[in-house]
Amino acid sequence: MQLPMKRPADPYSTIQAVKDTLRQMANWGSRGFDPAPETLETLKRWCAPDTPAEPVSETLEDIRSHLGDCQRCRLSSGRTHIVFGQGNLKARLVFVGEGPGADEDRQGLAFVGAAGQLLTKIITAMNLTREEVYICNVIKCRPPGNRNPEADEIESCRPFLERQLTAIDPEVICTLGSFAAQTLLGTTAPISRLRGRFHTYNGIKLMPTYHPAYLLRNPDQKRAVWEDVQKIMTLLDLKKP
Ligand code: URA
Repeated sequence: MQLPMKRPADPYSTIQAVKDTLRQMANWGSRGFDPAPETLETLKRWCAPDTPAEPVSETLEDIRSHLGDCQRCRLSSGRTHIVFGQGNLKARLVFVGEGPGADEDRQGLAFVGAAGQLLTKIITAMNLTREEVYICNVIKCRPPGNRNPEADEIESCRPFLERQLTAIDPEVICTLGSFAAQTLLGTTAPISRLRGRFHTYNGIKLMPTYHPAYLLRNPDQKRAVWEDVQKIMTLLDLKKP
C-alpha cells in the first residue's frame, strides 16, 4: 500500500521521522505493527484524500486485549493475575491506586483487600456504589513483597493507565496515595502538598487524596480524606448526607 507522505528533505529526516513515530507508538503501549487486511484497509481509508479521518476511539476491551499476557516488565514473573481495573466503563469518577496487593493479585480485581473495604466505605459515603465508579491502579501486577514499584515498571504500565483514562473520559479522577498523583501529574511533590485541591490531568479534574492503606495506619487523617471527597461530591453534584 502506498501511503501519501510528504517527501522528507533527506534520509536522516526520514530516519528521525520513523524513530519519532515508533517512540510515540511505544509511549501509547504499542509493541509491533498489526498487518491484518482489516487494519491495512482502515489505514488506506485514513489516507484517502477526500475521506475525513475517523476519530480513533478505543474501548477498555481493546486496551485489555492489547495488554494481553503482559511480559513488558519483570513484575510479570511474580504475578498470579493482571489487575486491569473494574467498574463502570463510562464512570463519571475514576479512582486510581498504586498497584495490586496480595488479595488483588489472587483475585485479579483492584482494591478487594482491607484497603479496598475502606475504599468501598468512602464510595458509599459519597452516595455512590463501586459499580458506578471505575477503580484501577498505576501498575497492573503486584510487586514482590508489596515493595514500591520502580520507575521502569511504572513507565511500562503508564501508557495503559493513560489509555484507560482516555477511553473512560471521566469528569473527575481521584488518585489514592502519592504514587498515582505523582505519576499522573508528573511531579515529585509529596501527597500532603498535593491533596485537597483540584489539579488538571489532560483536561480532566484530578483530586489527590491519601491512600486508604495509609488511613488504616493513620485513622486521624480520615477527616482530610472526607474533606477531599466532599469537594468531588460538590463538583459532581452528588447528594450530601
Ligand atoms: N492498594 C492499591 O494501591 N491498589 C489495590 O488495588 C489494592 C491496594
